[in-house]
Amino acid sequence: MKHEQGRSQFLLERNERTSMSTNADANTPRMDGVSQQSERFFRTLVENSTDIIALVSAEGTITYVSPSITRVMGYTPEEFLGSHALVNVHPDDLERMQQVLGAILQSPGKSLRAEYRLRCKDGSWRWFETTATNLLADPDVQAIIGNFHDISDRKRVEDALQLNLNRLDLALLAGELGLWHCDLPFDKLIWNTKVKEHFGLPLDAEVDINLFYALLHPDDRERTRQAIEQSIENHGTYDIEYRTISPIDGRIRWIRAIGRTFYDEADMPIRFDGVTLDVTEQKQADQRKDEFISMVSHELKTPVTSIKGFTQLLHRRFQQRDDETSLAFLARMDGQLNKLTKLINELLDISKMQSGQLVYSEERFDLDQFVTEIVENVQTTTQSHRLIIEGSTGSQVLGDRDRIGQVLINLLTNAIKYSSGADRVIIRLAKEAGEVIVSVQDFGIGIAPAHHQKIFERFYQVTDPLEKTFPGLGIGLYISSEIIKRHSGRIWLASQKGEGSTFSFSLPSVS
Ligand code: ADP
Repeated sequence: MKHEQGRSQFLLERNERTSMSTNADANTPRMDGVSQQSERFFRTLVENSTDIIALVSAEGTITYVSPSITRVMGYTPEEFLGSHALVNVHPDDLERMQQVLGAILQSPGKSLRAEYRLRCKDGSWRWFETTATNLLADPDVQAIIGNFHDISDRKRVEDALQLNLNRLDLALLAGELGLWHCDLPFDKLIWNTKVKEHFGLPLDAEVDINLFYALLHPDDRERTRQAIEQSIENHGTYDIEYRTISPIDGRIRWIRAIGRTFYDEADMPIRFDGVTLDVTEQKQADQRKDEFISMVSHELKTPVTSIKGFTQLLHRRFQQRDDETSLAFLARMDGQLNKLTKLINELLDISKMQSGQLVYSEERFDLDQFVTEIVENVQTTTQSHRLIIEGSTGSQVLGDRDRIGQVLINLLTNAIKYSSGADRVIIRLAKEAGEVIVSVQDFGIGIAPAHHQKIFERFYQVTDPLEKTFPGLGIGLYISSEIIKRHSGRIWLASQKGEGSTFSFSLPSVS
């Protein structure tokens, strides 16, 4: 044995160190120390590799398999010697692998890579990534060297990932959702075709953050920019509605975008991802509803005002005639008319608020005195409840007196309406850190926490199947919160079911 044959020879001689050393000792010139050392080195490397290494002859038969096959597939190396290279290949992969083997045999010196399944000793199938190099012409090797790397775990993860991606696709399709993501700071923006549709763009359009802002309706740009910045800064959800204008046909769409930011370990924002949804139809329906409310309340206002005028006329006549019975009927009619007028006015207010047409006047007034007046007025309408004022603010506020009065009247009438079993309502006045706070506490039915957020929304009413329903449309608190917000104040409530409620609002104090 010539020592030049070295490396491949030890592999071909089936990892039997003894047989090789005998050969070396017996015949030929001894290997020099360096060769022996390097041979041992490579042998150890191959035998301890986690991959399987095999040698295949020009006839396609296996001439060597490294011992790691036992750990990976359960066979002993000897079981393979002399077998065909494609023994144990999965039937579905066999044809493809025959082509690969053919290609390798015809490409001296080249490497090819393939992924396929092999049957293990226990009958299970595992995925391997195999790199085969044709070194048949290399006198040191004279074989095809195959390196088999077990990728079953990776395949399982990839399959699971693919399954989830398919589900995501289905969800996006069913929800007609656009999907976008961008690396921060906004250097790369990726939109799927649905997002491009939502922006009225051609499907092959290239996008970037500047184009995004350019396609927004000018009135929505700044608001959107702020929402994005705030969400990134505050780790909050981004949820906004904006209009897009198509550069192709000028079509305007209302789009809702929902997203969130992802951060690295150092808490630096790295990605901003989310979805878009076309809400144009919903917006149009809302607008039609608003227009309908506006029209109905206007149409109702004229006849109701006229009836009111005639009741006043009748009132005078019945008084002149001392007709007590008719006067009593008329008083009840008038009471109902007042309720109707209040409702119509509230509906008109909502319409104006919706279209930004509600005009607020501004004057400076003494809050304590103002609250006392309102409370005294409301007290004249009820005998069942005592309205008690506690505390004072000693402050003046700046704003629309009538509108702020409307808020307090709303809270007081609700407090009375929703506490029929109680006999008092407490109004607290306080001043804290440049703000005045007015609270109205009742001892009535209370409100479960689940409703606390929504109660200030338009047309929201608490419904409880176990309770009798109260008349109303659920607009008083919505109007109140809009008025308070317009005065840079806050409105909130503290309540538990069955334990009464405390509604509070704050306003900036000016003295
Ligand atoms: P509504 O005209 O229906 O009273 P509001 O906007 O004033 O409309 O109130 C919305 C809902 O909030 C009411 O339907 C009621 O269920 C609940 N609510 C308001 N105030 C109180 C209160 N003081 N106690 C209990 N529930 C209340």
